[in-house]
Amino acid sequence: NKFKEGLAKTRSAFIDRMDDLFRRRKKIDEEFYEELEEIMIGADVGVNTVMELIDGLRAEVKKRRIEDPQELQPILSERLIELLRGDEKVGLRYADSGLTVILFVGVNGVGKTTTIGKLAHQMKSEGKKVLLAAGDTFRAGAIEQLEMWGQRVGVDVIKQSAGSDPAAVMYDAIQAAKSRGVDVLLCDTAGRLQNKVNLMEELHKIYRVIRREIPDAPHEALLVLDATMGQNALQQAKLFGDKTGLTGLVLTKLDGTAKGGIVVAIRQELDLPVKFVGLGEKMDDLQPFDSEQFVNALFT
Ligand code: GDP
Repeated sequence: NKFKEGLAKTRSAFIDRMDDLFRRRKKIDEEFYEELEEIMIGADVGVNTVMELIDGLRAEVKKRRIEDPQELQPILSERLIELLRGDEKVGLRYADSGLTVILFVGVNGVGKTTTIGKLAHQMKSEGKKVLLAAGDTFRAGAIEQLEMWGQRVGVDVIKQSAGSDPAAVMYDAIQAAKSRGVDVLLCDTAGRLQNKVNLMEELHKIYRVIRREIPDAPHEALLVLDATMGQNALQQAKLFGDKTGLTGLVLTKLDGTAKGGIVVAIRQELDLPVKFVGLGEKMDDLQPFDSEQFVNALFT
């Protein structure tokens, strides 16, 4: 089970502590709630969400006259699944026919290129014809890095020289994709934050060019967030906001954090489905997100 493996750090910090709490405490009292609260906030579940969860548990305890803390555990996991619901097997939106265009946005270093590489690999093994567009013409080495993934996976990359107009790269890539009968075009974009206004304008221009060529596209615009950044990832998401027409999230590096509760916080604070999670650096370490599988991997 990939989820279970990838979530090992979160399991041992967050879930084992909860297990211990549920077993150790004999009574459901204020101290119990306080400790539970502390553990969940420590795992980056997010203060508001934690308060809601605790309120929900209190109500349940009252209603069902629950006395044994251990009886609360399945209720809590059910609630967590509930909070993440809507994300079960959402999958990606593909074009009804012809070319599907998927745009990846996010700050440098969050794992955009890696995610594109992994997804290209996945799609290719499903028999799809995939092409990559090197839309980060700004960061030194970004094009080469995408090309490296292209070689590794065995898919072509459409690029121009460093510093060129990313919208022009997208135009080229769409033409190439159409003439080669490509199924899915995965587009990398720049992630510099030092000039946010320019970056947003650049992204808008990319949108316009894509839409002019294919009115229905981009079929997905996925914001890539680094789970190890915890609450800062949320701040980043707000920076990009809905100005970039986002349709979903990819949460990377979940294997690298003990604070996997961030998935719940992100799901609560942003009105966007989590489409994939990154659980490692290798080609196979990208999983379509499924809330039930996710929570089950944590608790069982
Ligand atoms: P970009 O600047 O957004 O394109 O980020 P990169 O794709 O270059 O990734 C930055 C670093 O994060 C690289 O060292 C990747 O190997 C690593 N990385 C990306 N995704 C994951 C993941 O899911 N788990 C782990 N452990 N590392 C990841």
